[in-house]
Amino acid sequence: MSIVSNTEKALDNAERLNGELNAFLSIEREHALGRAAELDAVAGSKLNGLAVAVKDNICTKGMRTSCGSHILNDYKAHYDATAIKRLNDAGAVMVGKTNMDEFAMGSSNETSAFGPAKNPWDVTRVPGGSSGGSAVAVASGVVRAALGSETGGSVRQPASLCGIVGFKPTYGRISRYGLVAFASSLDNIGIFGQTTRDVADVLGVIAGRDPLDSTSADVPVPDYAATLDNDIAGKTIGVPRALLGEGLDEDVSEKVLASIDNFEKLGAKIVDIELPYAKYGIAVYYIIATAEASSNLARFDGVRYGFRAEDAPGLREMYFKTREEGFGAEVKRRIMLGTYVLSSGYYDAYYSKAQKVRALVKRDYATAFEKCDAILTPTSPSVAFKLGEKSDDPISMYLNDIYTVSANLAGVPAISVPCGLSSEGLPIGVQLVGNFWSEDVLLNLASKYETAFPLEAKPSIYVG
Ligand code: GLN
Repeated sequence: MSIVSNTEKALDNAERLNGELNAFLSIEREHALGRAAELDAVAGSKLNGLAVAVKDNICTKGMRTSCGSHILNDYKAHYDATAIKRLNDAGAVMVGKTNMDEFAMGSSNETSAFGPAKNPWDVTRVPGGSSGGSAVAVASGVVRAALGSETGGSVRQPASLCGIVGFKPTYGRISRYGLVAFASSLDNIGIFGQTTRDVADVLGVIAGRDPLDSTSADVPVPDYAATLDNDIAGKTIGVPRALLGEGLDEDVSEKVLASIDNFEKLGAKIVDIELPYAKYGIAVYYIIATAEASSNLARFDGVRYGFRAEDAPGLREMYFKTREEGFGAEVKRRIMLGTYVLSSGYYDAYYSKAQKVRALVKRDYATAFEKCDAILTPTSPSVAFKLGEKSDDPISMYLNDIYTVSANLAGVPAISVPCGLSSEGLPIGVQLVGNFWSEDVLLNLASKYETAFPLEAKPSIYVG
């Protein structure tokens, strides 16, 4: 099939399903077909016209980059993010920008100013978040791969709830240049794939040092696709059993425990480990993430980007009115929390304490990785929940991230891979967390798992 006809198919499917799934905030037909025609005219490229979707907080030149927010509703980026440039140079075709929780703050896609994306397994349920639209675009078969962003689990959690692969790299592995900042010390670009191979193909292209991001690391990028099929016999997987009890859905617990047996069948060795500080992960995350967000989001003032409120009598009033009208409730809650924990009276009690506990969470991992190559946990404590079920209860929403935030706090890589279906037929994901720069090990483990134990069903809305 030519790249143009493949791209047309993805665009047609994206448009056809969007009424029901709301996965895309913009579909870039003209851009995509133009790029596809260029690629058809040259011989072969690394990604060979792979159609991809991109979360709407990653800058794409001349195209809308709304961050799921009213405040950036009409904002068009002036440059391409490094990941976009590298994908483009490698022969990928970007078909559209995807729905997301506002400024990537959320776990259900319901804080989007443009309405939530819907889960293709059951459209009355959330797809997870914050990269919900990208997860839906992949799970429904519109594209094989998509970019999302990860601050505390926003790729792994929706991947788990939508039955696909979701991957977060080591901090510094993928340039953040052009990723709109939420909490800079936690943010990463992450990747969704229908399979681990899709993730490996995309990672191989976008990973690596970028002079435009001083936190991107100068660490050699291996050929991830080449080691996907390696034997995993002899690999050691650590299981923190103390974390597999309280608050975990029964179905999730059952399938995750079964996945441990399955890894053993594939030859992996299972050992018990402990992550004693993991229980503080959510508290630490929501202090550090909100503190950094309150600073990062100060730039949206009605002067420099996007929306400006009308009829303000003076400059200060214009700032207030723009932010009052432009931001949604969750973003305001985070800015207030963040400024509070950074305020002079509370800095030591909250922010400074959280940084110290963050160091202990990181140390937990260092100790655990002396005994194992990867750590196995559930990705999310539950399957996809109903739209509206948790939107009035921020704490219960925040608890969705209990298994994912620690990897962001420590900066280590992690992946979620489907490991079965619940009694209601909804997908469940298992998470593997690796040591710094060990993406190849995680991709290898995940790939062997999905090949040996594939999901036994497809979503009810699927066009792949
Ligand atoms: N759900 C988490 C939050 O709301 C994580 C978000 C993310 O990873 N971008 O902060």
